[in-house]
Amino acid sequence: MKNLKLIFLGAPGAGKGTQSDIVAEKYGIPTISTGVMIREAIKNNTEMGLAAKAYTEKGALVPDEVVIGIIGERLAKDDCKNGFILDGFPRTVPQAEALDNMGVKINCVVSIEVADDKIVERMSGRRVCAKCGASYHVAYKPSQDGVTCDKCGETLSIRKDDAPEVVLDRLTVYHNQTEPLKEFYGKKGVLSLVEGQEEVQDTTALTLKAIEDAIAKI
Ligand code: ADP
Ligand code: ZN
Repeated sequence: MKNLKLIFLGAPGAGKGTQSDIVAEKYGIPTISTGVMIREAIKNNTEMGLAAKAYTEKGALVPDEVVIGIIGERLAKDDCKNGFILDGFPRTVPQAEALDNMGVKINCVVSIEVADDKIVERMSGRRVCAKCGASYHVAYKPSQDGVTCDKCGETLSIRKDDAPEVVLDRLTVYHNQTEPLKEFYGKKGVLSLVEGQEEVQDTTALTLKAIEDAIAKI
């Protein structure tokens, strides 16, 4: 098996998390989501969580040094030896440079492209499990009963930072700070753009094709 080191890029709510889970399952490698790790830290009132809370609630990015620290520790774990998927990291050029400096050679970057107006519409339907971090959508990816989490049974809720006014701020942050990563990884020759489709499975088909093409080049 080739050692796939994959990044999902895309606006908040573009479907990075959903695609990450599918790809993780298919290739048997872990998904590392900084958003999930940060929310977990906030829930557990850790020092990092306390530092991150105010940023995430306003839709701003948590400072680079904080997320770079948690990613460095996570990637050093044994389960990342045969490859991994990064969902929501890097989100700034300094974060991408930090990966380079750690000696991590990313061999595939999939950017899921979804127009801003679509994002705002999608985010209003997002539901999450505060207990295990699973993410759902009322229309695109409903839980089985529409009310509780399929994985752990917890009642689903709406994330504070999915409120419409916060979503607009997160989109601005995405365009200003994260989108330049397309050029960063484009220059390295590892970027694939995938047009987000109406149906999850159609996006998945395009994503898997992009990954297979990248694997062929490793
Ligand atoms: P989305 O669903 O928008 O992709 P995430 O769950 O990945 O969002 O992230 C939620 C919030 O956590 C972000 O708005 C930001 O405040 C913080 N966060 C997550 N990943 C990073 C990162 N790599 N750098 C800075 N902040 C981050
Ligand atoms: Zn759950």
